Amino acid sequence: MRSLSIFGATGSIGESTYDLIQRQGGRGAYRIVALTAGGNVRRLVEQARALRPEIAVIAEAAKLPALREALAGTGIEAAGGPAAVADAALRPADWIMSAIVGAAGLVPGFRALSHGTTLALANKESLVTAGPLLMAEARRHGATILPVDSEHSAAFQALGGEDMAAVETVTLTASGGAFRDWPLDRLAQATVAEASTHPNWAMGQRITIDSASMFNKALEVIEAHEYFGISPDRIEVLVHPESLVHAIVSFRDGGMIGHLGAPDMRHAIGYALNWPERAALPVARLRLAEVGRLTFAAPDPARYPALGLARAVMATGGLAGAGFNAAKETALDAFIAGAIRFTDMAGVVDRVLDRLSGQGGLEKAPASLDMVLDMDRSARRLAAEAMGVPADAERI
Ligand code: NAD
Ligand code: MG
Repeated sequence: MRSLSIFGATGSIGESTYDLIQRQGGRGAYRIVALTAGGNVRRLVEQARALRPEIAVIAEAAKLPALREALAGTGIEAAGGPAAVADAALRPADWIMSAIVGAAGLVPGFRALSHGTTLALANKESLVTAGPLLMAEARRHGATILPVDSEHSAAFQALGGEDMAAVETVTLTASGGAFRDWPLDRLAQATVAEASTHPNWAMGQRITIDSASMFNKALEVIEAHEYFGISPDRIEVLVHPESLVHAIVSFRDGGMIGHLGAPDMRHAIGYALNWPERAALPVARLRLAEVGRLTFAAPDPARYPALGLARAVMATGGLAGAGFNAAKETALDAFIAGAIRFTDMAGVVDRVLDRLSGQGGLEKAPASLDMVLDMDRSARRLAAEAMGVPADAERI
């Protein structure tokens, strides 16, 4: 029986993964090793009672007593705190979903690779902050990383195992987010509620706001660079408001292979869950005659300054991705808390990168996870300083 774990089981990706596992036979078909959540004890307990994992872990340590009490008599172990989440990743499982949001997903995903698992990677922040380390760790242990981000899953499928040497460009599509059609001068007034509504995809709040600012696409360009080992100048972004073509791989013979599908993450998750087979999935089928037309446009750099920042990060390399992501997460927290405006986020990240670059060390290749985590903390501190908000350097 295949064994599996879900990290971030109660989130948007985690719930879709849970749904697919249940549809594919649940605990009758899989041996569940670990389920983890950030703070939602009630939902973690429901999932644990249904899937019967060896262990359920809650990242917020203060909630461990509640988890313990709710699981008493079930035989399911309970644990709490970030270290317990990372330890749970050391328990061997054939397939592990990495769906914690933010840099907090890095250590668990990295640890999971140590037993040669197949890591279904939704947590793009792992590749952005520590791509070379993660890919090397996978190679060292014979582990497989499968992309779950829809664009990267689409590009992986369009590639079909062909040699990267035959690839000219990889194009990631972007919906354009909540403010695609807003006049530029209105963006500064955008509220958190407005930024939290995605035109096509239902996702967690943080990635939805990142879609409106295109910080999400910025992370994804870096993610593609790290995962496919393709140079930054060969990664393109196209605004595609319909969100039906997810990625296009252009080959050196002039052929382009695109991947189409309904905007439902259960496709990419289900593909990774069943890879290398293709299983029947409960995803709506596209009726292209009803769709009628697909449209594409180049992204406007004035509307989406995050994309330019991603290019600068890739040009710097080294620890720049870790600094970029941590500054972005801190700016996003401040926007959600009402401390800065929507349009301030890119400026904050830019200033933090400038300061980090002035201090030296940004270009240094990450030799260990500790170097990445140190950079993450420095960038969070600098970002908090730049915004005049209290530092929360321990978020990771
Ligand atoms: P979410 O906020 O809905 O869920 C995040 C999960 O992680 C929850 O289970 C939460 O409890 C847990 N969590 C949060 N903070 C934690 C911490 N500090 N320690 C441990 N656990 C913590 O997020 P999501 O939208 O499901 O996204 C998860 C990841 O997948 C992100 O990296 C996101 O960029 C990526 N992703 C999501 C989608 C999508 O459709 N939602 C698509 C592509 C990629
Ligand atoms: Mg994506």
